[in-house]
Amino acid sequence: MNNRVVSCDKCNQEFQIKPKTFKKKGIEETYFNCPECKEKYGVIVTDKTIRRKQKAIKELQIKIDKQKDPEIKKRLFSQFQKDKKEIETLVLFLKEKFRKNKG
Ligand SMILES: [Zn+2]
Repeated sequence: MNNRVVSCDKCNQEFQIKPKTFKKKGIEETYFNCPECKEKYGVIVTDKTIRRKQKAIKELQIKIDKQKDPEIKKRLFSQFQKDKKEIETLVLFLKEKFRKNKG
């Protein structure tokens, strides 16, 4: 994500993404601004639950990599996919909620 050049939807200015993190009441928002018109672009919003799940899924990934038994590996992998989807849903939901709260 770093050093990626994007163009602003609002003013078409091209710029390099410099993500910033905003923390409030356990919620972390990563975003960047257009240097020209200051338009804000949200990248990701996480809360405690999401971060805990993200940590758990990373550990699960390591477990899968280490697992030799194909049956167990398969089972762990389907759990991994399920968890991943759940995190994605939570992130989307929180992002939506966050945007609404700010008006
Ligand atoms: Zn702009």
